[in-house]
Amino acid sequence: MTTALQTPFDVAAIRRDFPILGRQVNGSPLIFLDSAASSQMPQVVIDRLVQYQTHEHANVHRGVHTLSQEATTAYEGVRRKVRELIGAKEDREIVFTRGTTEAINLVAHGYGRSFLGAGDEIILSALEHHANIVPWQMLCEDKGCVIRVIPMDDRGVLDMDAYRELLNERTKFVSVTHVSNALGTVNPVGEIIRLAHERGVPVLVDGAQAAPHMRVNVQELDADFYTFSGHKMCGPTGIGILYGKAELLEKMKPWQGGGDMILSVSFEKTTYNAIPHKFEAGTPPIAAAIALGAAIDYLQAIGLDAIAAYEHELLAYATERVGAIPGVTIIGTAPEKAAVLSFVIDGVHPHDIGTILDQEGIAVRAGHHCAQPVMKRMGVPATARASFAFYNTRAEVDALVAGISTVKEIFG
Ligand code: PLP
Repeated sequence: MTTALQTPFDVAAIRRDFPILGRQVNGSPLIFLDSAASSQMPQVVIDRLVQYQTHEHANVHRGVHTLSQEATTAYEGVRRKVRELIGAKEDREIVFTRGTTEAINLVAHGYGRSFLGAGDEIILSALEHHANIVPWQMLCEDKGCVIRVIPMDDRGVLDMDAYRELLNERTKFVSVTHVSNALGTVNPVGEIIRLAHERGVPVLVDGAQAAPHMRVNVQELDADFYTFSGHKMCGPTGIGILYGKAELLEKMKPWQGGGDMILSVSFEKTTYNAIPHKFEAGTPPIAAAIALGAAIDYLQAIGLDAIAAYEHELLAYATERVGAIPGVTIIGTAPEKAAVLSFVIDGVHPHDIGTILDQEGIAVRAGHHCAQPVMKRMGVPATARASFAFYNTRAEVDALVAGISTVKEIFG
């Protein structure tokens, strides 16, 4: 591994680890400001994928032969790495999923269908990604439970007094995002969990935008469930994590049936495997899981605290520079933010911003960011969103600022 461990943060060395950052797009060097959608992979992660596919590929948990045992060891080794990364108590509290979306659906299905019923209330926040809204709505349609929403102010900060009032004897579940993908707000999830626990209510935290950007400790937070996606933290697509407290996972029903999740099957009766395997039916994304292990090693070698500090400084710089451009409005101005800068330009549709910036090799996201209720609350149909990772630089922020000037000239 070539990563620089020097202090101060050696972003030039880090960038050399990411082959894609060397490419050109539309004749300009790529400036990738869309890591909230999916981050890039360093060479070590790509190498791990190739190594597995070239020399180690076999199914897990099934064979006595050497390759299968090696694959199983590597796959289960990543479960341990994830456990260490997020400070979980036991390996069996880590369930591999396809991503955050699947993890939340698993809980809505496996916990919601068994333990929530008509009239029960589920509290979400106004900042949720669709992945943390729709599975609960589907549950409510089937079971007659009701969604309540913690409102937010014009900066994108949750109203904690309103949350305290929403909590009542009918509240049976709380599911909130740690960091908003649309605005970047960092929610006070520790406090949200503490207040829910005072009433014995379990809490799921959607950590898709937090796990790549800060140190997360599920035991310190006392989260009941915590979810995130590999592809947003330098790993491949198709792999994600559901953390769940063992006692909750144990009492949940499996949500998909098939191979690997059983102990015995007859036409009369099936008995289920122990957690976490009870929730991992069928052949899992073995290669993706193993490569996620390499991504975790990579992030930890740099250090999540160092990443958080660097990105914080970069976001502050970007906020200052982009916010100073006349006609530009930053959407989402919470005091606690991570890695996301959403903005609009007077008289220009965000899609046009995205298209023009792309002509200069600058990749930003334009649209509703799978968070339509957030857009509605902020009074915009869509935003342009620059999202940062530890491989971005101040020079790239300067290029974004120049790109925004070009957009304004074209529409001027
Ligand atoms: N939750 C948040 C906050 C997200 O930002 C995303 C993806 O953008 C998701 C959930 C869904 O993640 P995935 O598409 O990896 O399942």
